[in-house]
Amino acid sequence: MSRFLSKTSKALLPYTPGEQPQGVKLIKLNTNESPYPPSPNVARALLQGFKGCEWDAAAAKNADAAGGDEALSLMPPEIANLRLYSDPEEKPLMKAIADYYGVDSDQVIGGNGSDEILAFAFKAFCDEEAPLLSADITYGFYPALCQLFGIPYRTAALREDFSIDIEDYKNCGCNVIIANPNAPTGMAMPLSAIEEVLSSNPDRVVMVDEAYVDFGCESAVTLLDRYENLVVIQTFSKSRSLAGGRVGFAVASKELIADMNRAKYSFNPYNVNRLSMLAAAEAMKDKEYTKLCTGKIQKTRERTAQALTQLGFTVLPSKTNFIFAKCNAMSGKEYFDGLRRNNILVRRWDTEKIREYLRISIGTDEEMDIFLEVTKKLLSEKEAE
Ligand code: PMP
Repeated sequence: MSRFLSKTSKALLPYTPGEQPQGVKLIKLNTNESPYPPSPNVARALLQGFKGCEWDAAAAKNADAAGGDEALSLMPPEIANLRLYSDPEEKPLMKAIADYYGVDSDQVIGGNGSDEILAFAFKAFCDEEAPLLSADITYGFYPALCQLFGIPYRTAALREDFSIDIEDYKNCGCNVIIANPNAPTGMAMPLSAIEEVLSSNPDRVVMVDEAYVDFGCESAVTLLDRYENLVVIQTFSKSRSLAGGRVGFAVASKELIADMNRAKYSFNPYNVNRLSMLAAAEAMKDKEYTKLCTGKIQKTRERTAQALTQLGFTVLPSKTNFIFAKCNAMSGKEYFDGLRRNNILVRRWDTEKIREYLRISIGTDEEMDIFLEVTKKLLSEKEAE
């Protein structure tokens, strides 16, 4: 902390992202990335221009020294175009998302990850007079953002079984954000419950964070025609295998999207880079591939959950690409450390109510087999103690 840090920044409690080990051989089940690569159409689009283009760095350098124009003509177009700002309206990407959900392009906004979309939405709709209500156990970025923006953040406790009590959100006098499915519990609510929250808060904005919706849950986008106070937030990081591309989006009425654009254009107008935009548009169009990957992940999830249950774990019912589970034979910390010693990285929060639970992202079948083998080994070591 330097002596220049402002008083308000000193008081911030920033979100702690999951560990991203570089160059270490680990089974990485800690940040809910997809174990599968992006759609082949994404690769094709990004590599477009490379095909048949014998880009000769040395020749380009000579040409560059001579003037520059020739170097540009020798370069793959997608790379050469990086000299230009990206389209702040993100048109082809917005169209791909709008077409997917059957809405108009002006009902969509894109962001540098859905974390940025959350920032635009919170900034646009919440302040001291419009506090935000969410669950006590949910995505930790919500309170961090509220603190950054000076938004009062209220919480409603989950029930004992980690489900959301919808009564807490009805006619609540606050804007609302609900992660559906919730994270890190993985548990989903039916659309009818979301609808009750929307209809009982007609003068408040209800944001539904659907980061994990494609793993077996229904999107609230279908409610947009009936509720002008709904914002649906999604990401390309999970079901579309583009966490490193950093693209998220929101779908809402065109008025609410215009409101969010006020925040975007006050912060970072060229917020999605050219290559990520290209990648995300292709990923959105390749419905078949997304379905294939999410289907495989759901199958692996069910098999892993069943195996853990048989090993005596408490496993919450998940509709996401992770499972939230408690080992009843050892503490959460012991189990986490045991997995880490065996090169398996998962996520754990040392906070009230959930410190005995681990959040385990779903990897490939092979990775989950190793994870289960290591778990069995740790259990027998524990038994022998
Ligand atoms: N919402 C939830 C519930 C999440 O778990 C995450 C992932 N950490 C995000 C939003 C943000 O994802 P991204 O910024 O990668 O789109």
